[in-house]
Amino acid sequence: MTAAYEPDDVPTEERWKQIRGQLKKEFGASAYRTWVEPITLCSGEGAAVRLGVPTRFMRDWIQNHYGDRIRALWKEDEPTFRSVDFVVAEATVGVDEAPVALSSREGHVPAASSVAAEPAAAQETMFVPRSARIDGLSAPLDPRYTFENFVVGKPNEFAYAAAKRVADAGEVSFNPLFLYGGVGLGKTHLMHAIARRVRENQPLRSVVYLSAEQFMHRFIRALRQQDTLSFKEQFRSVDVLMVDDIQFISGKESTQEEFFHTFNALVDQGSQIVLSADKSPTDLEQLGQRLRSRMNCGLVADLHPTTFELRLGILESKAEQMKVEVPEPVLEFIAHKITTNGREVEGALTRLVAHAQLVGRPLSVETAQDVLRDLLRAYDKRVTIEEIQKKVAEHFRIRLAEMQSQRRARAVARPRQVAMYLAKQLTSRSLPDIGSCFGGRDHTTVMHAVRKVEELMAADCTFAEDVDFLRCMLEA
Ligand code: ADP
Ligand code: MG
Repeated sequence: MTAAYEPDDVPTEERWKQIRGQLKKEFGASAYRTWVEPITLCSGEGAAVRLGVPTRFMRDWIQNHYGDRIRALWKEDEPTFRSVDFVVAEATVGVDEAPVALSSREGHVPAASSVAAEPAAAQETMFVPRSARIDGLSAPLDPRYTFENFVVGKPNEFAYAAAKRVADAGEVSFNPLFLYGGVGLGKTHLMHAIARRVRENQPLRSVVYLSAEQFMHRFIRALRQQDTLSFKEQFRSVDVLMVDDIQFISGKESTQEEFFHTFNALVDQGSQIVLSADKSPTDLEQLGQRLRSRMNCGLVADLHPTTFELRLGILESKAEQMKVEVPEPVLEFIAHKITTNGREVEGALTRLVAHAQLVGRPLSVETAQDVLRDLLRAYDKRVTIEEIQKKVAEHFRIRLAEMQSQRRARAVARPRQVAMYLAKQLTSRSLPDIGSCFGGRDHTTVMHAVRKVEELMAADCTFAEDVDFLRCMLEA
């Protein structure tokens, strides 16, 4: 296939634009929006082109599905082969490199150094203030992690309010603000949102955001280079220091010690500190008593496990950001089935949308069931249809065999319907699948059972309690 542009000596940026145009033609507007538009050109000097993508998942996906085509297009342009690399903005921040921004759009500071000089340093466009850039301390911020994009619900409203307060306060409020909670519940999202908000509204305050791991690597490097003095100076000149996943340094004696001193120095000079961890300060047992008690001095805010409503809200927000219209029942399906955290529901949605778009399938519950089968199976491990039948039969004191029998007496038919309902709710098996486990019944029978049970639950609270009790037992 010939590309629809001139393979002449065009600047890399211009050429990337042409290639994107070509990809849009080849893959369609919708796939283009999801997969190609978020790609940023990081560097393109010499023989290598480096493209930045926001997440690891996207990198893998783009590499697998578009990588060859993108490479071929560059090659068409240039007889000398150019390698095309995809890098994840956040994950590739080497500890040694200053973040680099290529775009000089408003609010983005172009990098001072050449990107080609430091291969691991290429990043997507990002928001880096002058001071932090000079020091090269801060990691880049994911542009999607803003307060506006954060969905607030019961489990996280307190952490959200505290984060906003710190971001908008203009001076030190709670010190430190300590955010904690399980994986994927939005700690990093909130940290990025704070950093971005302060940089936008208070450009004179220097904000440094980095992971505890990056902090440790910098410290070790300073030790190796016998340069701890400038390490200390750098960190102690920061107005807002944000360290993510602080549990990482727990038990790492010398890093902990150094962090403790940095922490104290910053608090003493009136700088704001924001920390996150997977546990509360009290539960970070290896962190050392002194550090733990200092962390407890500020405000400790926890993020609780997600609820169905919160997951649904997150899915709606992510779908909007991806600029795709996903029918509500599909979002509800995912929110029901994937009960862990924001990261996993987002991953499921991305996968579903990608698949549907590439293969041209409708975004329906059936497609979701199909595309997410292996993911859902992992959740299903917890409860099988056989277990459901057994528990329900025990509960209603009928024989297990009645689950599959053709008897229609209410005393056995009702429990059977309840079991079908629970099978639909608690597993990802399809209606025909469920039907076949109940003595080879038709999928319409299962559908009828589900509806009947829903009706009864709405009308009769004793019955509803019974069903809920069974559900809890099975889920436990
Ligand atoms: P953590 O740092 O707590 O492990 P992250 O902040 O990395 O979790 O969140 C994982 C993913 O889930 C991110 O893509 C994030 O945007 C999303 N997410 C989690 N909670 C929310 C929320 N309340 N609103 C919007 N997105 C969320
Ligand atoms: Mg995190």
